[in-house]
Amino acid sequence: MPVVGKLKFCYGPMDCGKSTLALQIDHNHARQGRRGMVLVRHDRSGEPQITSRIGLTRKATEVGNETDLRLLVREQWAAGRHVDYLIVDEAQFLSPDQVDQLAELADDVQIDVYCFGIATDFRSMLFPGAARLFELADELQPVQVEVLCWCGQTGRFNARVSDGEVLRAGDTVVVADTEQMVVESSSTSRSEGEPNTVRYQVLCRRHFRLGDLGPTSAQHGQLRLT
Ligand SMILES: [Zn+2]
Repeated sequence: MPVVGKLKFCYGPMDCGKSTLALQIDHNHARQGRRGMVLVRHDRSGEPQITSRIGLTRKATEVGNETDLRLLVREQWAAGRHVDYLIVDEAQFLSPDQVDQLAELADDVQIDVYCFGIATDFRSMLFPGAARLFELADELQPVQVEVLCWCGQTGRFNARVSDGEVLRAGDTVVVADTEQMVVESSSTSRSEGEPNTVRYQVLCRRHFRLGDLGPTSAQHGQLRLT
């Protein structure tokens, strides 16, 4: 039987501990003398690095829309560096083609690929990159470390909220920017003069469907962030 790498997708809502897990997997592999690359799309910090909520960071290689991930690996080879594994954060923003490239790297050059990301956007629809990962990955692992809906059920959906209402339509690309904004808002104050205050709240499926932000929704909102 030929030796192949594994393509794995660990997914969950915002702030479920995915980035922390990504950094831990990188650490575990590196300790065994394996060499990896850490890739990221749209990191919340704005720098090409993985930033976890508990304060760990690691430098990463930024992946653009058009980046061919196979070429990134070949460049490492050309520089005399082997690559045993890849870690990809914010993998929902990969294009479907890029996910195919990851599968090719796993199959043809035996690289283990660990993808971390959010499965669904604020409409509860799969991101294209996440959908392709569900189709191709060898292993799918939900990550659910700490995020609960206000009712105590597992938080599964990132609801986009404005003026106390769950929004059902709009530009999905805003997800990246606004996640960044919300994450920053938890430690610093929001920028002034923002006309529409948009934030995200993780909800269980039932409360996402109902658009129910809970009896104390004001505490989860902008008020808490100031
Ligand atoms: Zn709920």
